[in-house]
Amino acid sequence: MRPESLMMSYGYVPEWSEGAIKPPVFQTSTFVFRSAEEGKEFFAWAYGLKERDPGTPMGLIYSRLNNPDLEILETRLNLWDEAEESAVFSSGMAAISTSLLALVPIGHAVVFSRPIYGGTDLLLETILPERGIVTREFKAGTEPTEVEKICRELKEAGTPCKVILIETPANPTMKLSDIEGLAEVAHRYDALLAVDNTFLGPLFQQPLKHGADLVLYSATKYLGGHSDLVAGVALGSCELVCQVKLYRTILGTMLDPHSAWLLLRSLETAKLRITCSCKNATQIASWLAKHPKVAKVHFPGLLTDERQQEIYDHQCTGPGGMLAFELADAGEKEAFQFLNAVKLIKLAVSLGGTESLVEHPATMTHADVPPDEQEAIGITPALIRLSVGIEHPDDIINCLDYALDQVGAEAEVTTSEK
Ligand SMILES: *Cc1c(COP(=O)(O)O)cnc(C)c1O
Repeated sequence: MRPESLMMSYGYVPEWSEGAIKPPVFQTSTFVFRSAEEGKEFFAWAYGLKERDPGTPMGLIYSRLNNPDLEILETRLNLWDEAEESAVFSSGMAAISTSLLALVPIGHAVVFSRPIYGGTDLLLETILPERGIVTREFKAGTEPTEVEKICRELKEAGTPCKVILIETPANPTMKLSDIEGLAEVAHRYDALLAVDNTFLGPLFQQPLKHGADLVLYSATKYLGGHSDLVAGVALGSCELVCQVKLYRTILGTMLDPHSAWLLLRSLETAKLRITCSCKNATQIASWLAKHPKVAKVHFPGLLTDERQQEIYDHQCTGPGGMLAFELADAGEKEAFQFLNAVKLIKLAVSLGGTESLVEHPATMTHADVPPDEQEAIGITPALIRLSVGIEHPDDIINCLDYALDQVGAEAEVTTSEK
């Protein structure tokens, strides 16, 4: 069966909970052992002192190690990406940082694409280097042969690359990177390819099928989908994810049962929501592209570059619900006139929710990237990022139309009428 058919019940047995059709929130810190012998056995498995038979489920011990809501959620998340194993975290950043700490030893390197999510950027620019991990960047969309040169240099310098981390499409420029090509490079250098798949989500891109080793999500975005929770996921082989899970247990970066329960509910409508956002975004991108005040639209469904199109055709099955656009002959002032005039669409960071959101990457999500670097990676003062929701597309377009009308208008625009 297909994932959307399994999201309502897979991995849960009503007999566990008095016949309840839905799993309850297992709001508990600890679990009662049936006997001392059982407690001893569970701990021996948990600490790797004893092999567990492949068919035997891990016993429940304590909610930092495992919890039924987290386990049911992980079982269902595996289906979308066809992963062997997954781990859920208290945020997307918890998934990314815990995974990198678990997989990259001191004196080794992480090679990453830029632009990348702001929190990940800070982790790679500052926090990991302070802890003795080397980091090197390349521009999103760089050919794998060029990335291979960086891996070669790192190897020669005695700080071999352990993980190549990419975000594709990149945030906010929507530049695509070649997953299969980069996976081959990583594997030639005994490294892993990790893909942050938050932007397209599992419906339109399944990096494991293209050779990636680890897939990361901010489940705060499309998987959660209602802008009401913060969570993260890492997926991959049993071997890799179990290594990450040990770090999760010790760092304490696991998800809480209530958020896991909310995510289970979200997953039932994931396909409906994501498909609707994508359909709306496709219509809106074409409308924006024709608008005289819009200079350029960045959307995977409207590519102009042949190589980018080739990558898209190979690894994506839909353009998603995220786009960015550049106002014509404009700077920050005009961008702000636009942002202050939206009504239905909300002015907020984050993405992937049921409601449409706009934001200004140069001064908001990517404010920590120095101006000259912003320009080099395509984050201009006139660039606006739009996360398309599931409202009626005509209402979103009317909102955009009104806000675009306000660009260049001399009268002061206020936010009071929101
Ligand atoms: C939001 C986001 C993150 C961080 O996720 P949190 O859940 O906010 O910690 C990481 N990567 C991408 C692409 C994101 O959009």
